[in-house]
Amino acid sequence: MERSPVKTKNSSADNLGEETKQALEAVLKASRMGDHEEVLRLFLKDQAQHIFPKGQHTLKWLTDRIGRRATSRLVGILSEAPCFNCRHGLLGCDNCENTGHLGYDFVCEWCLSLGRVPCGFCDCTGLASIDFIPLGLRLAVFAIRIKNAEKRLDGLLQIPTPSAESAVAAFNKRAELLFALNREISVLQTTVGVAGDLVTVPRNLRGRVTRITNEAVRIAAKSTRRLSTTVETMLNACKLCAENAQRGSKAHKLAMARVKYFGALLDTDPPLKGTYFEHPLLTKAADRLTQKKKSRKRR
Ligand SMILES: [Zn+2]
Ligand SMILES: [Zn+2]
Repeated sequence: MERSPVKTKNSSADNLGEETKQALEAVLKASRMGDHEEVLRLFLKDQAQHIFPKGQHTLKWLTDRIGRRATSRLVGILSEAPCFNCRHGLLGCDNCENTGHLGYDFVCEWCLSLGRVPCGFCDCTGLASIDFIPLGLRLAVFAIRIKNAEKRLDGLLQIPTPSAESAVAAFNKRAELLFALNREISVLQTTVGVAGDLVTVPRNLRGRVTRITNEAVRIAAKSTRRLSTTVETMLNACKLCAENAQRGSKAHKLAMARVKYFGALLDTDPPLKGTYFEHPLLTKAADRLTQKKKSRKRR
């Protein structure tokens, strides 16, 4: 039990002002209750008011004052804090009213005929974007996000092609799997994107940023192919729909339109090129790594 969570372990903590103490207590209370939003809100507010530090020493500052366990729980909560704009990284498609088609004759290309579109705030991750993660804790948060993404991806990759009673149900189940896979891969991509954006990474943190990027690339390498094979199984479900449906019926028309559309999406090189299922930042980071390895070998 952490009855008196705000410790006074060292001299700087001894001098902890009453305001800082109370602020820490409030954050810890929200953290114990598992209130992600409140933790995030309080933390950002306290940093803005200079009650908490913002720089790269924030993690140590916290550990010294509230201990390792409470700090890691706090970082864990921040790493799972959800995007305020969407559910699981997706929004409904206004163009087709979430149906994925326009009057059964045409697929809705806005949403790739899936009825949902990616959230622009969180880049499909469903997680609070970098601007909302307290400065000084971002690298720690990203390291945990990558670990969680790998765990979830490993679980998703174990799932055999979902069985279903009907072709329509099969299509829907596989679409859910596609979204779930893409969400985790998008989490990996945001961490790589951050490494790319942080032009002013302090020298002593560069090693950690590189390690995070390498991890993200490694995990993505084993997962991205599953995106296109999942779309392939969706295409097959549409073919089955077309075979089973009465010629000229709404179901037949939509299935045919989808067969054509998904076929075209898979026909690009790489498959799904230009859609949000392509992750160019991860590809770029992977290329950079290969280049580095090659030049190291040449030396
Ligand atoms: Zn749509
Ligand atoms: Zn979002």
